[in-house]
Formats: sequence, C-alpha cells, structure tokens
Amino acid sequence: MIETITEAIVLDKTDSGEFDSRVYLFTKDLGKVVAKVTSGRKITSKLAGHLQPLNMVTARIIEKNGVRLVDALSHGQNKKQAHLIKIFSLVKELAAEGQRDLALWNFLKKALSNEFENKNTAEVLSLLGFDPTFAKCDRCQTAKPEKFSVRDMAFYCKKCFP
Ligand SMILES: [Zn+2]
Repeated sequence: MIETITEAIVLDKTDSGEFDSRVYLFTKDLGKVVAKVTSGRKITSKLAGHLQPLNMVTARIIEKNGVRLVDALSHGQNKKQAHLIKIFSLVKELAAEGQRDLALWNFLKKALSNEFENKNTAEVLSLLGFDPTFAKCDRCQTAKPEKFSVRDMAFYCKKCFP
C-alpha cells in the first residue's frame, strides 16, 4: 500500500453506483489521478463539499487494488469561470495518468489564481503535448488551425471542425 498526501486540484467528480464516486484530480506529486471514493455514504458526503470541480485540496490518496481517495480538505472555492472549465476539462481528457508534471501543475495553479484572466487554451494544449504553434488542420492542412477536437486529438480549421 502506498499512501500519498499531496496538493491537488479537483478536475471533476462523477457518481458511480449508489455509494461510490469517482474523482479526477490533478495532483502536484502524482500528476493526473482518477480515484475512487469508496468510504461509504457518510464519508463521501463529508468529502463532497471539498470535492467540487476547481477546488484546490490537500488529498490523501492510497494505492492498493486501485487508487482511492480517503481524505480531502479544500482551501477555498474557486469561481467557475468558463475559460477555466475548458482548460480543466482538457487536462481531464488529455493528461497522462500518474505522471508528475510540475510545469502543468504550476500553470494550472496560476490559472486558478487571478494572475491571468482569459488566457486561451494554447498554453495548456502545448503543455499536454499538443503544441498549436506549428499545427495544421487535420483535414485540409491549413496552417494555424483555430480548433482542437478532444475526441479526435487533432487540430482543425474552422471550416473542417467536425
Ligand atoms: Zn481544414
């Protein structure tokens, strides 16, 4: 059993089954973590308030027959701004699980603070390995495509975007 206590940002939380939920975290020490919260209804509901998307939390994660989140304490809630939700859903979909990435962590922390306001998603895409600078539309090869499809993991120009 490996126990890790780490700072983390809540990317998303979904219910799975009557008592369980699954939480998507981006952690400082372990990168993206998808953890089950299986402590029963009482503890799950105690944690629920802390596990809102975009919350910064101190998370206690145990790896033993899968990954479980056993405790979380949030350090205040963040406003759910549209551009942040977009950035964090990209991280949820594209970041590799269990790979520590301090550059991405620092970027996300900065995104959550008010240090920058409405940055586009280019920086997070390039941190995730999809650098838009030299990208071409996946269909017509036009340079500087404006759109990125998470489903296809590909860039498209406005015309070709599916
Ligand atoms: Zn195109």
